[in-house]
Amino acid sequence: MKDIMPNNGQFAMPTLPYEALGKVISKETLSFHHGKHLKAYVDNLNKMLPGSGLENLPLSEVICKAEGGLFNNAGQVLNHAMYFEQFANNPKPMGGKMKALIERDFGSVEDFKKEFEAKGATLFGSGWVWLSADKDGKLVITQQKNAENPVTMGLTPLLTFDVWEHAYYLDYQNRRADYLAALWQIVDWQVVEGRL
Ligand code: MN
Repeated sequence: MKDIMPNNGQFAMPTLPYEALGKVISKETLSFHHGKHLKAYVDNLNKMLPGSGLENLPLSEVICKAEGGLFNNAGQVLNHAMYFEQFANNPKPMGGKMKALIERDFGSVEDFKKEFEAKGATLFGSGWVWLSADKDGKLVITQQKNAENPVTMGLTPLLTFDVWEHAYYLDYQNRRADYLAALWQIVDWQVVEGRL
């Protein structure tokens, strides 16, 4: 996968290029989710990495080799960096290349969205639903628990929706399915396609 988190000995906080995302994700949710939750993962990662033997690796390789607390914090840093990067207030629509791949592997864009939302809604507990490409370029949807990222299974992660309660509870309370359905409005498909 493309390296979106440069390792300069320490990992910097991913920047947030918006304060709110229309009516889909509030400023309050983003301030907690990015400013508190992600900040804690970045700080923990930077504390745990020195002396681990993995300090010079790209973050996706740290995740493939780390265990325990280092795995959890490294995974959550990459997962959130990808999550926040893929949204925009004026998102670019899906391009022809991605549309063709989705139609080939899921039948239609609507069928893909339905399956993606269902996998997000039925993931028990905390985690992430992902769209990835496998080694042959086939698109797959996976449910990943807690801090998992499909890169550990040899997949190239393309799109992810965070289904930890901290991602939606202030705006949607227990209505996870409504949160998932609303996110399509803010997905910037140019960013997603750039990960192919
Ligand atoms: Mn989160």
